[in-house]
Amino acid sequence: MKWGCCGGRKRKVFIGLLTGLCLTAIVVLLAGKIFTGLSIIFASHLLLLYAQLNPVVQWLGPVVTRFRTDKKEIWLTIDDGPDPEETPVILKLLDEHQAKATFFVIGNRAKNNPSIVRQIVERGHQVANHSMNHPERSFWCLPKRQLEREIADCSEVISELSGAPPELFRAPVGHKPWSLHSVLRKEGLPLIAWTARGFDGVSTDSERIVHRIQKHIKPGAIVLLHEGKGTLSETLGELLADLSDENYCCVLPAPDSFICGRR
Ligand SMILES: [Zn+2]
Repeated sequence: MKWGCCGGRKRKVFIGLLTGLCLTAIVVLLAGKIFTGLSIIFASHLLLLYAQLNPVVQWLGPVVTRFRTDKKEIWLTIDDGPDPEETPVILKLLDEHQAKATFFVIGNRAKNNPSIVRQIVERGHQVANHSMNHPERSFWCLPKRQLEREIADCSEVISELSGAPPELFRAPVGHKPWSLHSVLRKEGLPLIAWTARGFDGVSTDSERIVHRIQKHIKPGAIVLLHEGKGTLSETLGELLADLSDENYCCVLPAPDSFICGRR
């Protein structure tokens, strides 16, 4: 699959910077300036941690943050399902508003709810990879082999249930372990982040969630939502009504329209 983001120029610059800092630290330590040397090493680790924990920073590789369009179109993305109670209600709401969405599913939940995955596909939505087990606390530092399993196992479940392999990946909590981009490149999966989110994973106040999202709505915005907490139907209902009032359409963008970089 071809998508609109170019390769790893920023990654090369970032790795060059880290290497430079490490070499400088060694020279400084050999010169006996222990505190300065350790401070440089600490700073380089902080930079790396920032790149891994900030979902939209591109220093480790390309991250899709919006898509190119000259129409009033946005991309709804719904994470952490499928959920036997909530997903059917969400599908009904999407149908009522003629909206399409991408469901970034957790492999194990998909495996336990095969008929819901099939319903998502049959109703014209997209199912994508959000890892097999969603290891949200450890994902940022997952060893390469474990990371490969998380991604490959989820892709396998999706392929079996939907009849086609997923074409997109979203990282649990947006974190990026060091080897994530090389694993995704091998799997042919672009890493999808977002433009607008309402922090619905931690808040249940749908009015505030929709307000936070609305502030970042513009043509080509990627909206992040979560299911499984029992509050998405209310939030989505309000959001879809507001979007209809403003004549926005919810579409599934073509990969060659993906944009990486600042939102
Ligand atoms: Zn998630």
